[in-house]
Amino acid sequence: MIDVTISEVGPRDGLQNIDCVLPTADKLRWIEALAAAGLPEIEVGSCVSPKLLPQMADTVEVARSARTLDVQIAVLVPNLKGVERILPERPDKISLPLSVSETHSRRNVNRSHEEMFAEIAAIAGRLKELPKAERPHFEVGLSTAFGCTIEGPVSEALVVDLAVRAVRTGADEVGLSDTTGCGNPSQVRRLIRAVRSEVGSEKLTGIHLHNTRGQGLANALAALEEGLTTLDASLGGLGGCPFAPGASGNIVTEDLVFMLEAMGLNTGVDFDALMRAREALIGVLPREIPIFGFTPDAGLPLGMRVGAR
Ligand code: ZN
Repeated sequence: MIDVTISEVGPRDGLQNIDCVLPTADKLRWIEALAAAGLPEIEVGSCVSPKLLPQMADTVEVARSARTLDVQIAVLVPNLKGVERILPERPDKISLPLSVSETHSRRNVNRSHEEMFAEIAAIAGRLKELPKAERPHFEVGLSTAFGCTIEGPVSEALVVDLAVRAVRTGADEVGLSDTTGCGNPSQVRRLIRAVRSEVGSEKLTGIHLHNTRGQGLANALAALEEGLTTLDASLGGLGGCPFAPGASGNIVTEDLVFMLEAMGLNTGVDFDALMRAREALIGVLPREIPIFGFTPDAGLPLGMRVGAR
């Protein structure tokens, strides 16, 4: 039994934030290595316009191939059109980003809050047409929930309102996203409590954290202690911009696995196989793309083993 589900988002969040397009075969080899390491869920890409994000142009193809692996497949979708594109590949989970900052929402997906709720309603309606067994889990991720680089501080009351409305409009679940890496552990605790008290604990189980200011693992621990069970992370903290030294992506999968396993929590991950996935990634990335993580350099402490139990 897995205690904490690590959702590996490197192939989506990591690759879409670096300035190079990975060939499909390289992506697939990396995703295979991630699945072989025992990661239970992988976000394999996003169904956005290839003109906007050429890195994600092959998401449908990648999802189709990844379907054959023993892993849950998640895909990010900005709208109903994206859902229609990915549905034939039978993803296990689809995530729609609803940015709490409306300015960010317009820049990110070119839609106001009202327009996003129309998309949520349309997607929920479309999924209801499917037989239950074929319905992907529909999550609405509340982006910029901890602060926005354009609007600045974000109202916590607004985060709660949008979460309630997303669930009422048909989302199976909401997630909290620290898109800009502004969050701190107190804020993480406060926001999880506030949202859960309005939508119910079962409607908020996951969080998406970035390590931009080095708070990633502290925030992950706060979320865990509040009872969340799914943590997004990316291998090597992939996602740093090559033109912004020190900028990093999501929390580092390798370090998160070490922290959780050292605390006695089962992640289902085999650390040696995870290192092979890291090598697979390093092997296909241009050298100027930064790769993060302390545990890969230090190794596991003497006597510690992290393998599938
Ligand atoms: Zn992100």
